[in-house]
Amino acid sequence: MKTIIEPFRIKVVEPIRMTTSTEREEILQRAHLNVFAIDSQDVLIDLLTDSGTGAMSSEQWAGIMRGDESYAGSPSFYRFRDRIREMSGFENVLPTHQGRASERILFELYGAAGLIVPNNAHFDTTRANVEHSGAQALDLGIPEAADATNRHPFKGNMNVEALRALIDKVGPEKIPLVMVTVTNNMGGGQPVSLTNLRQVRSVCDQHRIELYLDACRFAENAYLIKQREPGQQDRPVREIVREMFDLSDGATISAKKDGLVNIGGVLMIRNPDRFTEACNLLILTEGYVTYGGLAGRDLEAMAQGFEEVLHEDYLAYRIRTTEYVAERLIEGGVPILEPPGGHAIYIDAGRFCPHIPPEQFPGQAVVCGLYRLGGVRAVEIGSVMFGGVGNKPPALELVRLAMPRRVYTQSHMDYVVEVACELYAGRDALRGIRIVEAPPALRHFTAKFEEI
Ligand SMILES: *Cc1c(COP(=O)(O)O)cnc(C)c1O
Repeated sequence: MKTIIEPFRIKVVEPIRMTTSTEREEILQRAHLNVFAIDSQDVLIDLLTDSGTGAMSSEQWAGIMRGDESYAGSPSFYRFRDRIREMSGFENVLPTHQGRASERILFELYGAAGLIVPNNAHFDTTRANVEHSGAQALDLGIPEAADATNRHPFKGNMNVEALRALIDKVGPEKIPLVMVTVTNNMGGGQPVSLTNLRQVRSVCDQHRIELYLDACRFAENAYLIKQREPGQQDRPVREIVREMFDLSDGATISAKKDGLVNIGGVLMIRNPDRFTEACNLLILTEGYVTYGGLAGRDLEAMAQGFEEVLHEDYLAYRIRTTEYVAERLIEGGVPILEPPGGHAIYIDAGRFCPHIPPEQFPGQAVVCGLYRLGGVRAVEIGSVMFGGVGNKPPALELVRLAMPRRVYTQSHMDYVVEVACELYAGRDALRGIRIVEAPPALRHFTAKFEEI
C-alpha cells in the first residue's frame, strides 16, 4: 500500500519558531513548569489540544466572506441548519458558541438534584454541567478501558450490564437521560461500536429513557467503526454517522473538533417540547435561535466543516496520522495507550518513568521533558488534573499529544516521535515534581510547580 498522504496542499503558511535549549529552560522556569503558562509563540509543535486548533479550508474561508450578519433569519443559519439536518436527520437544530453551552442548556432542562446521568465517560465540562444542575454524573466504561495495553477495538463502549444494574437499582425515573460520548475523550479518544450503541438504545427503550450523544468526534468514531467493526467495511461513513444519530434522541457537539472550525457548537433535540424549552434558554444566554452566540460567518464555516469532515480521504489521513505516530512510538519503546484512538496519542507516563511515584506527577515530568527537549507542548492527564483533596486518584498517569486537524505534516510528526523517543532513552534523568501553589478547583490550568 502507498503512503496515506495529507489530502490537501498548502496555500497559506504560518511560520513557527525554533528556540534554543537555553531559551526553553528559561521559558519553562518562568512558567513555573506549567505549559499552560507558556506563550504559544514559544512553542514549536503545539499538541496541547485538538479543540479549535484546526486549519480551515479555502471553501470555509470563502464561507466566512459570504456570512450574512443579520440578527434574525440569516441565510447563513439556514445553510448551517440544513447541513446538520441532512447529516444527522435531526429536524431541531440550534447553534451555540461551543460544546459546553449546549451542555449547559441540556442539563438545565434535564438535570436536577436526586437524578443520575450515566455516560461511558463524562468529559470534564459535561460532568461540571451535570453536577451544576444538582444531578450526579456517573461513568460506566468497560473494564478493558482501564488497561493501557488491552487492544480491545472499542474501549470507548458503555458497560451495558452496569447500565442495566444501575436502572434496576435506582429506577428509571431517577435517570433523565443516558449519554454516550463518541469518541471517548477522557479515556484515550477510544471509539464506541455500533453494536454497543444499539444495545444501549435497547436498554433505554425498555425503560423509556432518552439517549443523547456527546458527539464532538462523531466522524472519527464513524470512521473507526468502518475500520474496526465486523460488517461495516463497505458502508459509506455518512451512512454510519446517520445510524449513530438515528439511534439517539439528541446530541451536543463542540464544532471545535469534528466541525473543523475554531469556534462553534450544536444542540440537537428530537422531542419538540424540549426543543421549544431549549430555544427559550438559548435566548437567555446565547443570543437569538438563528445565531446562538456566533457570527453569521461562523455558521457558514461550520456548514462547510461538517461537510468536509465526512470526506473519507480526510478521515483516512486523520486516523492514519494517529496510527502512524503510535506505531513509531511503540517501535521506539515508548509506552502508550493501545490501540490509539482518533484524535490523540496518550503516553503512559506511569510506565515511561516508573521511578517517579504518582504523587510526584510522572505525567507532568514527561510534559516538561518534551518541551525542554524539543519545544513540543503536550498536556498531563493524570494526578495533576484529577488529583487533589477529596478526589479519587486516576487509574492511569497519561500525557496527551492531541493532533490539531490539517495543521501539521508527516515531518512534523516524525520530529515529535524523535523528541519523545530521545526523552524516553534518557528517562532515568527525569525528576519528580511537586506543586508549589494551586487553586482549589481545575488546578492544572494555573498551578505552579518545581522539580524535586
Ligand atoms: C471539547 C469537548 C466538550 C466541550 O466542548 P467545548 O467546545 O470545549 O465547550 C464536550 N465533550 C467532549 C467529549 C469534548 O471533547
